[in-house]
Amino acid sequence: MALIELKNISKVFKTGDSQTVALRNVDLEINSGEFIAIVGPSGSGKSTLMHILGLLDSPTEGSYSLNGRSVLRRHDSQLAKLRRSDIGFVFQSFNLLPRLSVIQNVILPMVYAGVPASQRKGRAFELLTKVGVQHRAAYKISQISGGETQRVAVARALANNPSLILADEPTGNLDSKSSQAIIDLLKALNRDGNTVIIVTHNPEIAEQADRVIELRDGEITKARATVPKRRMRELDPESTLHGSGKRTEQRKRQ
Ligand code: ADP
Ligand code: MG
Repeated sequence: MALIELKNISKVFKTGDSQTVALRNVDLEINSGEFIAIVGPSGSGKSTLMHILGLLDSPTEGSYSLNGRSVLRRHDSQLAKLRRSDIGFVFQSFNLLPRLSVIQNVILPMVYAGVPASQRKGRAFELLTKVGVQHRAAYKISQISGGETQRVAVARALANNPSLILADEPTGNLDSKSSQAIIDLLKALNRDGNTVIIVTHNPEIAEQADRVIELRDGEITKARATVPKRRMRELDPESTLHGSGKRTEQRKRQ
């Protein structure tokens, strides 16, 4: 069963007298454990698709099932709960609170999700360590670099241990070294079993995904399967690395 199943999704934005068709007739299936890159020119509907996938916006038409359950036409409170527990976002604009410290920003989603106060700080510190910015825990967001800010955004996205990670141009304003560090981080999370969907303009980053989906004027034009080195290794019978075995097992369980 696919983790995500979009059928005939369209999204029309109405502003005053004009309307914009941001997505039209999008069909898309994503399996658990995939690493997907969404590419396409500016205005092609990438962010709109991410918002719909992340239950932040609903389509004008079509159906969406997540883990086999329809998630459209549900109450806001139910959606908020699903978002909090299952989905981690890394936005283009980071959406971090500049006046709070790094660690407070990571703790915040745990507060909303009802994680006991006694566990929050330890878990936030673990996540900051995972993304390599634990030494900045007490700094304000306004006091750290762009690359560090982006790492904090990833740590915050992971706060509630989501199975689906959505990242909308997470390397937007970063130099190539910091960009690759973020991508390596997302790849490591993917190897741990998380499904990762990333929007990117950078072909070198897109190449690293299992599958590239291209949008143009709100339509999927191309869904190309890349054969990443990692997957090649899995297919190689000589390779008995337990990491890949675990992954295969996880996939079977879906
Ligand atoms: P991308 O992320 O690929 O640059 P978007 O999904 O942000 O594209 O936008 C797709 C189209 O929908 C654009 O024409 C954009 O102007 C329009 N659009 C996006 N969000 C809104 C909105 N909230 N209200 C009106 N139009 C919107
Ligand atoms: Mg966008």
